[in-house]
Amino acid sequence: MVSKNQNKLMDHFKEQTGFSEAELTEIGIRLIAASRLAAHDSDHLRYHVGSALLSFDKKGHEREIQTNANEIPPFLKEKGFTPHKKLADGSPTIHGEFPLLYKAPTSKHIFLGCNTPNCASCLKSAIMRGVDALFIDAQSLPGMKGPQDSENPWTQDRAYYWNNLILPMAEAAQIPIYAVNMEEKKLSIISNGLPPKKRPVASTSARILRQKELDELEHNPYLYLSKMRGVRSAIGVARHKNTGAHHFIYAEDCHPPGFSAEHGQEMEERFHDAHYRFPLDPIIHMCMEASKHNLELMDGRILANFMPSSGRQLDLAYIGLSHIYLTDDHLPHTDDGAKAMKQLSEIGAIDYTVMKPDGVLRRLLQDDKISPRPIP
Ligand SMILES: [Zn+2]
Repeated sequence: MVSKNQNKLMDHFKEQTGFSEAELTEIGIRLIAASRLAAHDSDHLRYHVGSALLSFDKKGHEREIQTNANEIPPFLKEKGFTPHKKLADGSPTIHGEFPLLYKAPTSKHIFLGCNTPNCASCLKSAIMRGVDALFIDAQSLPGMKGPQDSENPWTQDRAYYWNNLILPMAEAAQIPIYAVNMEEKKLSIISNGLPPKKRPVASTSARILRQKELDELEHNPYLYLSKMRGVRSAIGVARHKNTGAHHFIYAEDCHPPGFSAEHGQEMEERFHDAHYRFPLDPIIHMCMEASKHNLELMDGRILANFMPSSGRQLDLAYIGLSHIYLTDDHLPHTDDGAKAMKQLSEIGAIDYTVMKPDGVLRRLLQDDKISPRPIP
């Protein structure tokens, strides 16, 4: 009865992605091979991470695989940042997955492979960008390495996030994760899922603002951005890569998709002071929404009511968003965010300035009319 079981398994993969097991195996092997190669460019001391992205255009034709590693960005290297130096409380390296996903063109399908399990931030980006499936090198999974391994070790900390944050987030969002065994050329399912269109959506997804909402905002600039609402939020101008048309994108704090309000609240509290937090970062969320619509966010055209964490500040600077406006009514800075902002602005890598949101739309479109003032 082996063949019947195999058929069943094949149907299972097809149900999750629309692709057969044979097709997915081939894609997974290519992505892991490419990510292993890319990992050689890593600047991290212990975690040598490579990622690879394969997308299919609207007609279903494959594009060339794009790769990236966790690297120290050139603007930090030039200023003497080495893997031994810290940025705020963390490493000055940037994970490769976020820029790959942000730059991915509008696609019928997107697959992402990595030679190590993804971190919580990159997983969130993959979920919000609508990645069809994630592939992970089976050699890097829990149990394959210990805390003493010099490369990509499985530390207690890492296992904790994997089991309690990353896997539950993937399962709730129904994004499939497959392990690729390169030697046996086989896939196994780490987390079950569904094709992007059949998955749950976030309670308040990032969105392109409609004219009615823009009119409201013109009358009441604090409408979405007031800190009294108690949520991190941001408005940014994005330009269509083909037509050049401008759109306003709005995003606010929300839980990743698939969690009940109660469970989401529980997760938020549990990871409140952790290295990886549970909610979606509004600006990163906005980036993924822009990318889906073939838009790119414009530098100096984002107004937020919060200072992103150090890791997200680096992510944003890396994709060219290094100048962000903070509302005069912004939320208190976290220690980590404030430290990174100080370090990065001193070397001219980022520029965060405070402004009143009055006439916010006009001012975001006409940057030359903004008179920025420094953060107190
Ligand atoms: Zn990551």
